[in-house]
Amino acid sequence: MSKRLVLVINCGSSSIKFALRVEGEPSPILSGLAERLTTPEGVLRWRAGNERDEMKIADGLHSTAVAGILPLIDRFAKRPLTAVGHRVVHGGEHFTGAYVLDANAVRAIEESIPLAPLHNPANLIGIREAMAVFSKIPHVAIFDTAFHQTMPPHAYRYAVPEVLYSKYGVRRYGFHGTSHHFVANEASRLLGMDVGQGAWLTAHLGNGCSTCAVLNGKSLDTSMGMTPLEGVVMGTRSGDVDPNLPAYLSRTLGWDLAKTDYVLNHESGLLGLSGLSNDMRTLVAARSEGHAGATLAIDVYCYRLARSLAGLAVALPRLDGLVFTGGIGENSPLIREMTVGHLQILGLAIAPERNLTPPGNPAREIQAAGSPAILVIPTDEERQIAEESLALLDFDRIQPVPERD
Ligand code: ADP
Repeated sequence: MSKRLVLVINCGSSSIKFALRVEGEPSPILSGLAERLTTPEGVLRWRAGNERDEMKIADGLHSTAVAGILPLIDRFAKRPLTAVGHRVVHGGEHFTGAYVLDANAVRAIEESIPLAPLHNPANLIGIREAMAVFSKIPHVAIFDTAFHQTMPPHAYRYAVPEVLYSKYGVRRYGFHGTSHHFVANEASRLLGMDVGQGAWLTAHLGNGCSTCAVLNGKSLDTSMGMTPLEGVVMGTRSGDVDPNLPAYLSRTLGWDLAKTDYVLNHESGLLGLSGLSNDMRTLVAARSEGHAGATLAIDVYCYRLARSLAGLAVALPRLDGLVFTGGIGENSPLIREMTVGHLQILGLAIAPERNLTPPGNPAREIQAAGSPAILVIPTDEERQIAEESLALLDFDRIQPVPERD
């Protein structure tokens, strides 16, 4: 029997990322990005092996982009798709794992829109368009929040009146679950443990950044909260600030909530601190030339990241290893070195020569002798989505969506 094929779709408000994956294979046979959708400059770019091309999506419609993917799949797959796996940002408390999409599940994702007003509507566009085009195969939703549904109440509850939780879902959910899950599994593999075993601290450091404590394949705590603004410093997001800040800005500057929301999400983080850029590469280069803002931004970023990791360590009975992933975690020796420099309390120390990035950037260990493992592991969220989609179909765990009171 030939290996099964999954199309992975990550649909944003103006873009669709897609990848065609063969079961168990580390690389996609086809991948691409449709971007600037909703504008006349819509374009779909793709590559398959050494071949690459692009086509205009002149009407800017998501449906046109999905229809444009169809002939590419026919051409490169050469056999029928088994399933489509969709990334969905927020599953609220409805979804604790992957889920085969039916009308109830779509409704439950819609109900989670108030918790993720920017992301979930865009994810739903992708789901609807793909279900129309690929109407005869199962569509599976993989939620960024689902991996963290194993957090205990003492980790996920905020100290606010109970009714805000029970009636309005005010609690910590966590995000980047697909990535934390993937790298925790890879960490077990790399150290020769059974997959799903081990006590890990994981740091996903991309444009959004979050940390997680994973014990035997389960998330016990994570830095992001009800929304992806909580936690460590990110590209343009502030991470934790005093919860009184919006009230203070309202009283002193007259800022309304929309303005504060925008500033904390889009003008803060590395960009706000440095006054220069949200891009870590730019900041690392500027710091080496003595740029004061870039230097401060990197100092704050690494200290707050280390503080978050040390805080999450209390969720674990021991520490088997710390994992760095995401664009920054995988590629920046400086950020790894400075962060671990604040973590002597956990016995962590880096071997400088192992910390340099080798060609091809393989998954590897970079700790000094005597330190718990420190691992650099390239994340692969699409692979995790494809594998989880197939695992769900294998186990046929189609459960009714639990109702909330
Ligand atoms: P996204 O969250 O959009 O998937 P990525 O995981 O690609 O983002 O991470 C983007 C970040 O990784 C950017 O801040 C970028 O500057 C940073 N990055 C990539 N390569 C390097 C590098 N060699 N050194 C430092 N930062 C890097």
